[in-house]
Order: sequence, then C-alpha cells, then structure tokens
Amino acid sequence: MISIPYRAISSVIALAAIAHSLIFSSEPARFEFWEAHMGTRFKIILYAPDAETAARASRAAFARIAQLEATMSDYRESSELVSLCRQAGSGPVKVSEDLFRILTISQEWARRTEGAFDVTIGPLVQLWRRARRTRTLPEAQRLQQARALTGYQKLHLDATMRSVKLDLPGMQLDLGGIAKGFAADEAIAVLRRHDIRSALVAAGGDIVVSEAPPATAGWIISIAQLESPDRPSSLSLSLRQAAVSTSGDAEQYVEIGSVRYSHIVDPRTGLGVTGRSSVTVVAPEGAISDALATALSVLGPERGLKLIDSLETAHEKLAALFIQSSGQGLRYFESKRWRAVLKGEAKGSP
Ligand code: ADP
Ligand code: MG
Repeated sequence: MISIPYRAISSVIALAAIAHSLIFSSEPARFEFWEAHMGTRFKIILYAPDAETAARASRAAFARIAQLEATMSDYRESSELVSLCRQAGSGPVKVSEDLFRILTISQEWARRTEGAFDVTIGPLVQLWRRARRTRTLPEAQRLQQARALTGYQKLHLDATMRSVKLDLPGMQLDLGGIAKGFAADEAIAVLRRHDIRSALVAAGGDIVVSEAPPATAGWIISIAQLESPDRPSSLSLSLRQAAVSTSGDAEQYVEIGSVRYSHIVDPRTGLGVTGRSSVTVVAPEGAISDALATALSVLGPERGLKLIDSLETAHEKLAALFIQSSGQGLRYFESKRWRAVLKGEAKGSP
C-alpha cells in the first residue's frame, strides 16, 4: 500500500503488480519518485524495464512540471503570467503556447460552468489571502473593487495571433485551480514519449493515470473521509487513462466569526466558499478534473451534480462525489455515473 498523504485522496495499491513483476522478471518493475513543485509535492509512480529508464523518464517529467511552474506561477515576479498581468488594460499580448493552451482550456470551462470556474479571480483571491493572514473579512469597498476586476468575459484570446487581452488594468489571472491538473497531464505525456505506458502522477489532490499497472485492471485510488483523512477509506476508484481531483476546505480555510471560508472563491459574490464539504471529480484529463473540482466547490452538491450530469458527453465521461459534513455526520451526493467509476468502469477518453 502506498500512501499519497493528502486531505482527501490517500492511497494507491499496486500489490498485485509488484508480486507479478517479482515472478516474471521481464515484466516492468515499479518505481516511485517525489519532487516539490507548485507549492505541493508531485509524486510519480511508473512501471519501467529498468532503473535507468525510470530515472531518465521521471527527470524529464519533473523538468516539464518545473517549466510550467516558471511560466504560470502568480508568485514569481519573473513568470510569463505575472508579466502578462502587468500589461492588463493595454493591447493584446503574444504569449507562449503553454500559456495560451491553459488559458484556452480555462475559458472553455469558465463558459461550461457558467463562470463558477474563473481564472480572472486573482484580485479576489489576493483579498482572501490577506483575510487568512489577518483573520478579518475584506472591507466591502475593496471587495467591490476586486469584483469589478473579475470576470472571464474580460479576458480575450486570439488563436491566430496567439495573443491575450485583459480589458482592465489591475486584472490578475490565477491558475491555481487548474495548473496542477494541467501539469500532471503534461508529465504523463512526457512519460509516454519515454515509452512509459503505465504511470501515475499525483500533485496533491490532482491525480492523472495512464495505462493500468501490469496484470491489473486499473490504478486503485481511495478517497479518504472528510474529517479523518488518515483513516482507511472504503471508497476506492479503479482508473486507467483518466484523472481525478479533489477540492475541499479541509486544508486551506480561514475562520472568521465562527464562519469558515475556503480558499476557493465564488466569482459571483466575491466571497470565500462556506460550508464544509469536499468534492471529487473524475474526468478524462487532469486539467478538466482540476477545474471542475474547483467549480463544483463553488456550486455545491445540488447545482454541481446537475452540471456534471449535463456536461457529460461521449468523449467526456465525468463523475463526481460530494462528501458533506453536517451536524448529523457525513452525507454523500453522487452524480449519475459515480457508481460506474467505483466499480472500475471509468475509462477516460475512449
Ligand atoms: P487546491 O489548489 O487546494 O488543490 P483547487 O484546485 O480547488 O484546490 O484550487 C484552489 C485555487 O484556485 C485557489 O487557491 C485559487 O488560487 C484558485 N481559485 C479560487 N477560486 C477559484 C474559482 N472560482 N475559479 C478558479 N480558480 C479559483
Ligand atoms: Mg482545482
């Protein structure tokens, strides 16, 4: 049993595969690597014919993640994202392929979630980061100013020019709700180019997997219960060529006047999401599961699950589970396809 120590998604089991590779030595062996990136710990588990191949492939995958972080970080003054935001309010700015691609995906999911996921949320996130430090609610006037600088309709992409225009000076993009899932997708792609067919990349609560470990049907990923992330979970997913993300307030929140505000912000009200719940989303790609988990945290179980069921298409198999903590204990809310995922029928893209 391997543990991914994270608030909601906790363990990956590949014991059958290990036993198998001991008996048949020509089978690929299992390797595990860790590195810190994007404010979290990235973990790679992969199957490779030998240690050297495994090390080379994982090095390339981590290098790709580091490159994406250098482009997309909102903390680093030198990042392309920060430089783009400095030019907010002026003419279109030509950007790198990576930045253009993640912004394109972000805008697509902003539209499809009717703005619940919105990367122009930066000014509001800054206010809530300060609220967390000072334990006081943002002032109404500041909240108003930040809300005026937020809204995905104020971000324009031009695919022919590969350029980005931000309507108002002071606008700030924040890719914190999608970058880890996107980076995990890219890491899996790099591993594939190194002939690694079966791998798992976990970035905190965002996990992307390729083919199943040898002699298994899928990667087994269990979801820990809210309140007790260390307790073994009875909720296990079996995934291959898919992604799973969990968002919730278990780790990052601020409590002000006995109300608990999450680090996820509702773009329509400008307020940190309240209410104790975690949501897990299964999707074909990490960028999608990551963005949707953030969006569903904003929407809550009723509207969130309705959205997931309405978004599902032949190409985008989606499923979600909310775990909500109330006075009566834990409550579970499932999307239509959740049961199929639990039973291991969750192939990502066809
Ligand atoms: P975590 O980063 O804790 O795994 P998420 O994937 O849900 O959780 O991302 C939360 C981050 O996303 C916040 O820290 C902030 O940077 C950004 N964010 C907050 N609210 C939104 C929103 N409504 N839409 C898009 N991004 C958001
Ligand atoms: Mg997210």
